[in-house]
Amino acid sequence: MWIGIDDTDSPGGMCTTYIGAVLVRRLAHVGVRVIDARLVRLNPNVIHKTRGNAAVSIEAEGDAETAFALATACVEELAEFGDKKTNPGVVVSETRPPPDFYYAALRDYCTVDEAIRVLEAAGALYRGYKNRRGLIGATAAIASDLPDRTCELLAYRKRPAWGTPRQVDAESLFRAEEKTYPHTWDTVDRENGVVVGVPHTPDPVLFGIRGESPAWVREARSSVRSEEPACEQIYTTNQGTDAHLVPGTIKTLREGRSYLVRGTVAGSPTTGAGGHVSFLLSDSGAEVRCMAYEPTKGFRDVVRKLVPGDAVTVAGSYKGGSLNLEKLGIARLADAVRIRPPVCPACGRRMTSAGTGKGYKCRICGERSREPRVELIERHLKPGWYEVPPTARRHLARPLVRGVPAWEEIVLQSGRECDAPPIASTK
Ligand code: ATP
Repeated sequence: MWIGIDDTDSPGGMCTTYIGAVLVRRLAHVGVRVIDARLVRLNPNVIHKTRGNAAVSIEAEGDAETAFALATACVEELAEFGDKKTNPGVVVSETRPPPDFYYAALRDYCTVDEAIRVLEAAGALYRGYKNRRGLIGATAAIASDLPDRTCELLAYRKRPAWGTPRQVDAESLFRAEEKTYPHTWDTVDRENGVVVGVPHTPDPVLFGIRGESPAWVREARSSVRSEEPACEQIYTTNQGTDAHLVPGTIKTLREGRSYLVRGTVAGSPTTGAGGHVSFLLSDSGAEVRCMAYEPTKGFRDVVRKLVPGDAVTVAGSYKGGSLNLEKLGIARLADAVRIRPPVCPACGRRMTSAGTGKGYKCRICGERSREPRVELIERHLKPGWYEVPPTARRHLARPLVRGVPAWEEIVLQSGRECDAPPIASTK
């Protein structure tokens, strides 16, 4: 059976993954065999989310009624019912719903009624609390299909510590990453010298370690020194897979969806208030503004080096009329030129402008020329993929250290659209 839970936390506390970890232990206690626990990220642009739009699914073997009773009891005991934005959902199904609903919740928007139709068709047990919105994420989590997957080990705090400063030795986190990178990633951001895997919110999470397998996240975890955790759970997840991206064209972008889009840089990048960098991308007569926000730090330096005519592919969410960059692929660099006054053919000195539309004049010997000198500027940029740093990375964004999926390479290199969204394998 598959057990799904979502929408249990608030900015003031709790975390659906913690309830998942508690439920895993309570299921085991009554003899229900847990096969896998999944942490499933859904559309990162959904406005109702508390933080990272996560839902949890547990695959288990045992009595569905017992599991449903335990899951609802966990949620009723632990969820932040006082917050008006907390609307939990719990589902248990002995058949797995088709993955379409997962892909819809990951890449698009769904309604509670749609979730209920899926649950009814699967003959699932379900309970939605308050406005029942959590049924969307809970249903998507049990319907999830993970052709590409990663792991996260989450350590949780003991209850008296919730809301107090976390005691995690930063140096030990840097050591953990050093020992296990590139098999684990985003525990720290080495370039910017900051810890990434320890949250600052008042929820029960102590730290998280992301990696390619349970063995690697355990290995990294063994280096971490911290306050004693209450428990630890390894989740299978769609984090770091780019599962939220679909190939798109500038003309057909829809608000709140995430895309991989090809185009040509149409204007020089500019740095605006707050250090946000933007440029116009064009394709087939349509244009979109691409944004690299200040938190993307050094990634903005790459963006600033683009020039009109560069052929690129951008990855990110389309929000408020602009595409917020997660990743940038440079297929072909344009020739960047600088227009300068010519050198005097008679005396070898640099000429100066003779006035608007009058060409150039040598102030030394009086020689005239109409043509400027066109110089190629050296480009300090290479074709290939560039990404935002770990501190600014979205949960679903695939770190380059995991490699670039074939379909993304096709969109970057082929000069043609990639027809099918990567619903099957992204490997
Ligand atoms: P938590 O740790 O509790 O999971 P969160 O940041 O993941 O926190 P939620 O509190 O779960 O956010 O809020 C997200 C809400 O949006 C949930 O009710 C979920 O069912 C709903 N939701 C998720 N994806 C979609 C979608 N694609 N369309 C509509 N609603 C969605």
